Amino acid sequence: MPTKSKNFWEVLSLDEMSRDQWESLCDSCGRCCLHKLEDEDTGDIYFTEVVCHYMNEETCQCPHYENRQEYVPACLTIYPDWGEKFNWLPDTCAYRLLHEGKPLFDWHPLISKDPESVHLAGISVRGRTLTDKQVDEDDIQLHIIDWVK
Ligand code: SF4
Ligand code: SF4
Repeated sequence: MPTKSKNFWEVLSLDEMSRDQWESLCDSCGRCCLHKLEDEDTGDIYFTEVVCHYMNEETCQCPHYENRQEYVPACLTIYPDWGEKFNWLPDTCAYRLLHEGKPLFDWHPLISKDPESVHLAGISVRGRTLTDKQVDEDDIQLHIIDWVK
């Protein structure tokens, strides 16, 4: 009886993946482009509905991905050896899930084979954000959300 071959993310560690494999883990949810607040005492992260104004609100992708730090110097680059910093990513993010030894969700485009599935499953930020041009920085704590953790 034929056995089903495993997917690359089930057999390779994050630091063993090719650049293409690594990039394909991103589901384009846009959640990591939301502004976050960190409780300095507990280290807890709180996501807000305020998103980087560069993000394309329809595709939830960055139009300047390759050179994004030229636009937003503080924009992050994820590395396999990030350690505790994976907590800065939402708990649905493939990089964080795999770092924590968890499986991908069925809506992940690598599994569904449909790039729209992340939107159809209500995971992406499409239609649910304000940009950081629309919100005063001092008011950002008023925009904390509970649909991204
Ligand atoms: S949160 Fe993770 S999966 Fe979603 S856009 Fe950011 S890097 Fe990609
Ligand atoms: S620069 Fe691009 S990747 Fe960085 S937060 Fe803004 S939209 Fe997201």
